[in-house]
Amino acid sequence: MRVLLSVMIGCIALISSPVMAKVKIGMAIDDLRLERWQKDRDYFVAKAEALGAKVYVQSANGNETTQISQIENMIARGVDVLVIIPYNGEVLGNVVKEAKRDGIKVISYDRLIKNADIDLYVSFDNEKVGEIQATALTSIKDNGNFFMMGGSPVDNNAHLFRKGQMNVIQPLVDAGKINIVGDQWVDSWLAENALKIMENALTANDNNIDVVVASNDSTAGGAIQALEAQGLSGKVLISGQDAEIAAVRRVVAGTQTMTVYKPISNLAEKSAELAFALAKGETLNTTAEIDNGFKTVPSYLLEPIAVDKSNIDATIIADGYHSKADVYQK
Ligand code: BGC
Repeated sequence: MRVLLSVMIGCIALISSPVMAKVKIGMAIDDLRLERWQKDRDYFVAKAEALGAKVYVQSANGNETTQISQIENMIARGVDVLVIIPYNGEVLGNVVKEAKRDGIKVISYDRLIKNADIDLYVSFDNEKVGEIQATALTSIKDNGNFFMMGGSPVDNNAHLFRKGQMNVIQPLVDAGKINIVGDQWVDSWLAENALKIMENALTANDNNIDVVVASNDSTAGGAIQALEAQGLSGKVLISGQDAEIAAVRRVVAGTQTMTVYKPISNLAEKSAELAFALAKGETLNTTAEIDNGFKTVPSYLLEPIAVDKSNIDATIIADGYHSKADVYQK
């Protein structure tokens, strides 16, 4: 009888105690066609699931309207937190407003969403990325004809990279050492667009280009294809960013001067932790504050790392970002 009674009390306690619902996170990614975002997805989902969340992932493949409707679907699905890597950081104010109306927290991931009521911005120090790129190039050659190849014009990061690059390059232009022979921005950061831009730039300058300040590895890849066709790859210095496997192999081969390694696991895992904390209404430990035009956004910024031939092993390989066999494949 006593056993029966305690079993009954146990059952009543179980029924009346609130069942902890799983935290639901919607991850809206600009473009999974680029290798780097696949890494962000994998690290983020693994960490969030380990913490006990369910993650819905969507890629807009570089399309603004698709991204907005994907975010609207996630809102309709009743997610607790949205983690957004915006294609166009300028146009999400309304959809963020819809999310906030439903009590959904919004994290701007890697790229800043402007003029919107976001809860958190997690990224790398992107101005520093640009400085690292320009410093690596100008420490080898600080004069001659430089071609500026910016990223997607609707990505806030592309402008921060450029700002950082010019912090280093402008004084050398002012000193009459560097001559900027062209300045173009690559739609959607796509290699095929960069290839065309570089072909035209080479034609316009009779192949007289010494340095290409490319803002990431996908655009560097396109530009290097154009350089190769003119027998110039390995002769023209060119920067990159992301430590994509193809780019790291180009650094080993000497056709790309450098890349910027951003430990994505740190960004993704930190974001997953913070998404979870936001969902639970906990206070966040952040390290910076960024004005996005609407408010001062609590932010968390990580450090980028310069990589050339000399430190691939000590950085990318030591971290297990790529294996030695993959990098130095025969
Ligand atoms: C990211 C870069 C990336 C680029 C293209 C930027 O916002 O910070 O790491 O290469 O987008 O996807």
